[in-house]
Amino acid sequence: MSKPRLEGKVALITGAASGIGEEAVRLFAENGALVVAADVQDELGHQVVASIISTTNGNTVCYHHCDVRDEKQVEETVNFTLKKHGKLDILFSNAGIIGPLTSILELDITGLDNTMATNVRGVAATIKHAARAMVAKNVRGSIICTTSVASSLGGTGPHAYTASKHALVGLVRSACSELGAHGIRVNCVSPFGVATPLSCTAYNLQPNEVEANSCAVSNLKGIVLKARHIAEAALFLASDESAYISGHNLAVDGGFTVVNNSFAAT
Ligand code: NAD
Repeated sequence: MSKPRLEGKVALITGAASGIGEEAVRLFAENGALVVAADVQDELGHQVVASIISTTNGNTVCYHHCDVRDEKQVEETVNFTLKKHGKLDILFSNAGIIGPLTSILELDITGLDNTMATNVRGVAATIKHAARAMVAKNVRGSIICTTSVASSLGGTGPHAYTASKHALVGLVRSACSELGAHGIRVNCVSPFGVATPLSCTAYNLQPNEVEANSCAVSNLKGIVLKARHIAEAALFLASDESAYISGHNLAVDGGFTVVNNSFAAT
């Protein structure tokens, strides 16, 4: 039998109570990692962890409250991970919000600030403290951030969200440029539209409606994008199978961001 892909690795996952983060907690644990699941939705987070522990009979996954907008909570969560498991190998900095959905003419600037505070400043705080822990322990770690197709195309998400995800790609590339000297890789996963509480709540749609909308505009037909597909891409970037990949924005979009079918109809 082949060795579990994350055997012996310690992972911290933010936005872990729901959607893509929840899938990643399950998948990373299935692949042998010790996982600290962090989120602001404590009840849901504890439920996710309890459901994994009840199937594995193990103590491989635990929940810790962390609002990524508060640097002290981020630092404390990294310290909690170090105290519990002795090191940190993988950060999946996935927590994010969609932010205000308004027209640019009515842009909610406070909402934009909160979107940047979560999707950029919050991720920056996680990279800072996770990388400090990795450098201090001489760990050749892997950092993965969740961007979006809205990190490379305008018009695929709300304004503040699109700005935040473009900024996040810049942050990842910049962190990659410094952390390579320490053997630490920094990458992104960039999902197309997937049915999660984020997309369903924002647009007041049922999961099957979000999926139908995504499928209608997708490039790759005959498959419905699921949170599990994004978690699988994050698993690849977390594992040693991607040992020489850094600074990459891995699109999980079926080719959506690299094709333009406008001429096909003419
Ligand atoms: P989700 O709402 O199911 O999960 C996001 C999680 O982040 C939630 O559990 C939420 O409580 C948590 N969170 C929000 N603010 C936080 C904070 N300040 N501190 C800590 N945790 C916080 O949504 P999802 O779709 O799984 O989103 C995960 C990531 O995927 C986000 O970064 C999102 O931008 C990105 N993404 C989602 C889609 C999509 O279509 N669902 C597409 C592209 C990118």
